Amino acid sequence: MKWEARCSIASNKQAFYTLNTVKELEMAGIFAYRCGSCDEIHEGSPSFGFDEPDHYACLTDEQKAVNARITSDFCEITFEDRTDFFIRALLEVPIHGVSEPFLWGVWVSISQKSYERYVETYDAPVEGDGFFGWVCNSIPWYPETRNLASDIYVQTVGLRPLLRLHSGNTDDHPLILDQVNGITAAKAQQIAEFVLHTATAAAT
Ligand SMILES: [Zn+2]
Repeated sequence: MKWEARCSIASNKQAFYTLNTVKELEMAGIFAYRCGSCDEIHEGSPSFGFDEPDHYACLTDEQKAVNARITSDFCEITFEDRTDFFIRALLEVPIHGVSEPFLWGVWVSISQKSYERYVETYDAPVEGDGFFGWVCNSIPWYPETRNLASDIYVQTVGLRPLLRLHSGNTDDHPLILDQVNGITAAKAQQIAEFVLHTATAAAT
């Protein structure tokens, strides 16, 4: 699994930071912390994205070449009896006291009808457009997140669509609860450290 880690790591600036700086950033509502794994300052709310849906990642090179198409925002996989359609969306988890959310770039599978509409309106999204979709990536740190149900809302300002997990059941998945309730800065740090240092190491 390849991670696109956009959490900015201020390694070259490390000498200029002190713990006071981190506190000042936190007071300004900006997420920053001294990493327990690498001792560097990780600054800015964490943002991690998947380059492809797991359903694409698990194909052989030949299957990818013959049966699938993928760009940074669209993916189609053709099987003998059907074609599956995927788009990339943004899953936000609020961080308490921090202005920017924890961001996961995840793929969802949507119906052919929704996909065609999304492709058609990609360059000129229509306010209020939305689709039903299934999450198609295993988000690290959490229990299995594939096949969580969600609603996808297009954004008209040139950003990827927002993903809102279906919630309200008594046995809601931990990621659903986090999206609804938000997480503490400490938990955000814990998850980010895990993804930056544990999950990436395990994936290579
Ligand atoms: Zn680190």
